[in-house]
Amino acid sequence: MIVILKQGISREKVQEVCAWLETQSVKTSPIYGEGTVIIGLVGDTSSIDISSVEMHEGVERVMKVSEPYKRANRKFHPDDSIIDVGGYKFGGKRILVIAGPCSVESEEQIVALAEQVKASGATALRGGAFKPRTSPYAFQGLRAEGLMFLKKAREKTGLPICSEITNLTYLDMFNEYVDIIQVGARNMQNFEMLKELGRTGKTILLKRGFANTVEELLMASEYIMSGGNEKVILCERGIRTFETSMRNTLDISAVPMLKKLSHLPVVVDPSHASGLAWMVEPLSKAAVAIGVDGLEIEVHNDPKQALSDGQQSLTPEAFDVLMKNLRSIAAAVGREI
Ligand code: PEP
Ligand code: MN
Repeated sequence: MIVILKQGISREKVQEVCAWLETQSVKTSPIYGEGTVIIGLVGDTSSIDISSVEMHEGVERVMKVSEPYKRANRKFHPDDSIIDVGGYKFGGKRILVIAGPCSVESEEQIVALAEQVKASGATALRGGAFKPRTSPYAFQGLRAEGLMFLKKAREKTGLPICSEITNLTYLDMFNEYVDIIQVGARNMQNFEMLKELGRTGKTILLKRGFANTVEELLMASEYIMSGGNEKVILCERGIRTFETSMRNTLDISAVPMLKKLSHLPVVVDPSHASGLAWMVEPLSKAAVAIGVDGLEIEVHNDPKQALSDGQQSLTPEAFDVLMKNLRSIAAAVGREI
């Protein structure tokens, strides 16, 4: 439920209304806009009598929110959320690009790639250290050592680090070495993990599960946000459909839908969406044109030799061309990249 207050209401009056609402066993979170103040109510609002709230001095009107997600809901928070990661702002005018290899393979590899993607305009470095592979016989990642190499790359370049967590046992390490904790598609509904991440102060890149709806993605973000961590970035990375010519099908419509329903920044991952290096550019262009706040792109120094996802990885040179080609599209939609 959302309570819209009268124009020009004083802070004291807002606090008075909040205190009164809290006697109805709900939590209040006031949002101050220009001239308008709205109060979001969290908790069981089913027993609240709307007309008695509307009769309260200072209240303009009351709106019922039917969606089950509250904190991620744009109705509660009409302005876009801006999430600062190392001075780069997700959700601002600039479209941020998280680039790097699927897996960290060595210190030399990740440091060299970090320098290259930074020179091309990337604003964060990705690299998997703990890899959720379909086969237990496939490369599982360098694990803790991989995180340490990422830290070295951050020291050299200043780029914030994004890496996927697969098990909460390693949370302390992630808190130390990583700036954006990625929750992969396979763990989007690992609710115990989401609750724990809700208690950290880290930015979370929450990837959509390949068989999950937009609402399920938003409910997963709600798990993190209800724990107190509001720094959630949503990521569309392709869903499983009947189509077999690509690894997944990029649900490009999910971008404007998520932007309409939620105030959280939205990122597209064209690499896992297509599984094809040559398709990363057209999908990135579509994503920029449709209004994303960021891209996550796999880049490898030698894709043919990559230990994971080489077929969808761009060379640093191709990544550089892509970044240049995205500029005019970003400008056409009033953004920068
Ligand atoms: C990844 O980013 O390397 C990854 C495994 O992504 P997803 O969880 O989207 O498959
Ligand atoms: Mn990958």
